[in-house]
Amino acid sequence: MPAQTTHPDHQVDRELVEAAAHVARTRCRGDNHTMAAAARARDGRIVTAVNAYHFTGGPCAELVLIGTAAAQGVYELETIVAVGDRDRGVVPPCGRCRQVLLDYFPGIEVIVGSGDRVRAVPVADLLPETYVWADHQLGTE
Ligand SMILES: [Zn+2]
Repeated sequence: MPAQTTHPDHQVDRELVEAAAHVARTRCRGDNHTMAAAARARDGRIVTAVNAYHFTGGPCAELVLIGTAAAQGVYELETIVAVGDRDRGVVPPCGRCRQVLLDYFPGIEVIVGSGDRVRAVPVADLLPETYVWADHQLGTE
């Protein structure tokens, strides 16, 4: 039982963390691919991806994962986690990814923290005073 969970009824998806860690260990190479992400789809499937670093703003693993999931027909993600290469463990999403995840999947939970403090938190909890893009699209009715 994890020592700390934001939602005690939501156990941390250890299989998901391990899936991301496995991809980080086996697929990350050099400077282009240094992060892996794994997400649990609503139907139970796990989708994985790695980042595609580029100095012009190449996407984080979480963003690549959104496209990878769609390419597999998966449009509903319930939980996501990112793990760094070289045994860095769980890495929290950057600000851009937090916003993108919120807009694509408002109910998604993100696994953050390390060691026995690994826990799943709603993405909105990672964005205080959340900006909801859809709320500000005017004049389309
Ligand atoms: Zn990011």
